[in-house]
Amino acid sequence: MTHALHYGTGVFEGIRGNWNAEQGAINIFRMREHYDRLLDGCKILMLDIPYTADDLCNITVELVERNGHNTDIYIRPLAYKSEELVANLKLQDLASDFTLITVPFGNYLGSDRLRCCTSSWRRVDDPMIPARIKACGIYVNSILAKTEATLSGFDEAILLNHDGHVSEGSGENIFMVKNGRLYTPALEDNVLGGITRDTVMQLAKNELGIDVDMRTIDRSELYLADEVFLTGTAAHLTPVVELDCRPIGDGQPGPISKEIQRMYFDIVVGNNAKYRHWCTRVTPR
Ligand code: PMP
Repeated sequence: MTHALHYGTGVFEGIRGNWNAEQGAINIFRMREHYDRLLDGCKILMLDIPYTADDLCNITVELVERNGHNTDIYIRPLAYKSEELVANLKLQDLASDFTLITVPFGNYLGSDRLRCCTSSWRRVDDPMIPARIKACGIYVNSILAKTEATLSGFDEAILLNHDGHVSEGSGENIFMVKNGRLYTPALEDNVLGGITRDTVMQLAKNELGIDVDMRTIDRSELYLADEVFLTGTAAHLTPVVELDCRPIGDGQPGPISKEIQRMYFDIVVGNNAKYRHWCTRVTPR
């Protein structure tokens, strides 16, 4: 009778721990930011869990140490309405709980050159259900889009928002390169404030001197872009080479996508001293 199972009243995170064989350690990437976002979701869904972001980080380090993986892992925290009560839709009446699991995890998208389609499903709009948090129930929206895309032979779906502008992939943010500039939809276009999205924006600015323009993007702009790529904890940074059966640019991953991807892969395994503060290094017991 767990409430969250019936009504989707939970928030979760997806955090990656990246195995570095030379270090003999797992590097958990930007863990603190993931827990800050989880706690934002807890606030909106009135989930009372007795942990601060620091507590959650400490619990995670301990679990990763104890589980002893020597491979890439996915860390899945879930805060949820645990009350065994049906036919009650008042968040204030419902007790909350927290679970944490870690599982071995490899490639998520199954391709490093994505063929995408525009989904017939629209991304949820903030006044319907807040898209900026990772609420469990929202993922019915993502899952319908992903299912439609993959059953139609594509790798991933690009969802438009309620206004018909580009929002994001089913589990990734989206970027477009045009004439050497980078663009991504603003949070007001109903995208999740992705931690990989933020990472890419910081790398583009600090390492390539490119400011990312956060603005509304039309579907047709993606068709005419020089490069398009998706970003997410599970998806990393993955180039889109085709959208709705039209090649993006010359149909190959572009130079800016490849350069940011190269830096990103180095950073997430803890090999870049400048960005090591983004990694929590954990040695399995
Ligand atoms: N959008 C959605 C809908 C997602 O589920 C995710 C994955 N968490 C992202 C974007 C990317 O966010 P992040 O980079 O923080 O993983």
